[in-house]
Amino acid sequence: MKRRARQLAADRRSSRLARAQVGDRSELFTEAVGGLPPVYGERWVEVDGRAFRAFEPGRSKLAAGIARAWTGPVPKSGERWLYLGAATGTTASHIADLVGPNGAVYAIERSPRPFARLLALAERWPPLLPILGDARALRDYSALVPPVAGIYVDVAQPDQVEIVRSNAALFLERPGGAVVVALKTASMGRERDPAGHLREAEAQLRPLVELAPSVRLDPFHKGHYLVGGHARGELFRLDSSPAARPSPVRRRARPRP
Ligand code: SAM
Repeated sequence: MKRRARQLAADRRSSRLARAQVGDRSELFTEAVGGLPPVYGERWVEVDGRAFRAFEPGRSKLAAGIARAWTGPVPKSGERWLYLGAATGTTASHIADLVGPNGAVYAIERSPRPFARLLALAERWPPLLPILGDARALRDYSALVPPVAGIYVDVAQPDQVEIVRSNAALFLERPGGAVVVALKTASMGRERDPAGHLREAEAQLRPLVELAPSVRLDPFHKGHYLVGGHARGELFRLDSSPAARPSPVRRRARPRP
């Protein structure tokens, strides 16, 4: 599993991200923050005593975006990120690599089955901090998550833009915190084509986030785009989402005697 890379060059976007030129192909790697075995069967290489893991566009939408010349934010060493929709930790483990041993990734996943695997992974991937929770129920985890430098969202839900907005408003460091969304257009209804859904999502986000050019992730991830940039002050001037506000106490109707 462990192979020697001929040459690995640091990527200017993040100190723990590297590239190897293989023929005319450029491969991405993240510097592993944990040890073998691999997280999901990915290739490992060792360079000067440092271990790197292949960060494949076909396995991760963030890798696909970076491979497609994404100019938006990329997690950096020492940062704290909030990750919504972590599943079993494929991409979350690479973000944990990028933030490194002095950073943290608060990884929210609502489905117990992938969460169990995420939890097991976290035991050997120290920056990864899994939280079983629903990204729409911010109050459930707001006491566990400090202000973060960036938020990565991959929930594949029709209201994914609102999930981004509410979480970013509550958790992002200001100003200029990073927002990165793996936008799944197939989850957004059939009334528009993928490009139409992208335009709609960009129109909703643009007043709140200074957007980098969005990147289309086909054919690695059909109908997906990587969307995001840096938060504008407007994001924090809005209320912190209905979901974050205490819900009104509902009175139960008393059963009639
Ligand atoms: N980000 C993962 C990766 O690249 O390795 C893949 C994520 S998968 C497309 C979407 C995940 O979001 C699923 O595991 C799903 O259970 C989770 N999810 C969907 N809605 C959610 C919500 N409201 N709150 C938290 N997680 C959610």
